[in-house]
Amino acid sequence: MQDPVADLLSFIDRSPTPYHAVATAVALLEDAGFMRLEESDVWSVAPGDRRYVVRGGSLAAFEVGTAPPAEAGFRIVGAHTDSPNLRVKPAADVRAHGYSQLAVEPYGGVLLHTWLDRDLSLAGRVVVRDGAGLKTELVDLERPVLRVPSLAIHLNRELNQEGLKLNAQQHMAPVVGLSEKISLARLVGDALSGKRARKATKPVEVLAYDLMTYDTQPAARAGAEGELVLAPRLDNLASCHAALRALLASRRSAAVGRAASTRAIVFYDHEEVGSRSQAGAAGSFLADVLTRAAGAFAAPGAKGRTPEQAFERAAARSWLVSADMAHAVHPNYADRHEPGHRPVLGRGPVLKRNVNQSYATDAESAGLFAALCGEVGITPQHFVARSDLGCGSTIGPISAARVGIRTVDVGNPMLSMHSCREMAAAADVAPMIDVLRAFFASELRPPT
Ligand code: ZN
Repeated sequence: MQDPVADLLSFIDRSPTPYHAVATAVALLEDAGFMRLEESDVWSVAPGDRRYVVRGGSLAAFEVGTAPPAEAGFRIVGAHTDSPNLRVKPAADVRAHGYSQLAVEPYGGVLLHTWLDRDLSLAGRVVVRDGAGLKTELVDLERPVLRVPSLAIHLNRELNQEGLKLNAQQHMAPVVGLSEKISLARLVGDALSGKRARKATKPVEVLAYDLMTYDTQPAARAGAEGELVLAPRLDNLASCHAALRALLASRRSAAVGRAASTRAIVFYDHEEVGSRSQAGAAGSFLADVLTRAAGAFAAPGAKGRTPEQAFERAAARSWLVSADMAHAVHPNYADRHEPGHRPVLGRGPVLKRNVNQSYATDAESAGLFAALCGEVGITPQHFVARSDLGCGSTIGPISAARVGIRTVDVGNPMLSMHSCREMAAAADVAPMIDVLRAFFASELRPPT
């Protein structure tokens, strides 16, 4: 791998939507010899097999260990592919006061004001006819075609005293241009025809879409000494990137003596809207993949024998590290953090705790993570929310409840979470990869 920070920036730029994030990850996995499993097929896996599964905007990949999962368990790193943004409504073309606009709605907890005055584009997936069936295609307009213009201060004199009040219905519709001929169908149709090297004879008929806005400004290193990373979707593509790189690196380093446990990553869509979906963490995706991987394990010479209660036995021997970004202390709002629990940018991974189970971390799983950090020479930072502030949540507790696996919630510190353009530290990129790599290599067993 090149410089891990440059690698992260390019991973983010290539992944404007959850579907693109999955495609970016799949390309890297396939380069490393991972092969696709279809959920509609019968699975059979053997030690050393590298497989991946896609369900919508979610992805799971695993490398089968030398021992059956029922005996050695899984080592799983989870993250999420989605980020808050503005998504296009079904009948989206709007003409008003000489402008062409698009009807959009917020997805997840959007920091609305950060989407004003940015050079936005549109990407996502469309569904088209394909012979006797349907086909999903990725689409990305790539160039800046949208803008949500802010209102001049002359027309809103109290703005700086009263604060900016944005109504998601009234104030967030992006301008697409001035011509009356502009239509979403045409923009998307042109992008799809372009993808087909302009040899399309008739226009593509799009049946439906999941389209969303993104900022076209590339991710960048910044700060006086290049210490900062400024990018969209750091929450949570930075964790997807770390998990993926750790899995790919552990594979190379494990060439001498492969791990007994089966190592896996799972990247979920829909975390930002509560995870309750076919592809989300509250759905069956991870449970299905693990159950089938555990049940399909065929030890050499033991053909056709399905291990008994394979998934349940595997789950009791497994660990899940749920990696999602953490709130660093903000220099202008330091009082929003609990004293003694103020993660700082550049000082490495954060262990997240919440006694009310907004995070899945408990003493056992925190102990695992602390031990792994020790192995790679890192001291983890600690986060707990102030007692008088609500606590965010993530895929950790949702997955843990779904699959019954001991889970720890961790993440790299960041600022401007859920902004159109977020901020993290370059120095935190490599340590998270290192500790996740140590996790994949580790055979540390859960306490009994
Ligand atoms: Zn997140």
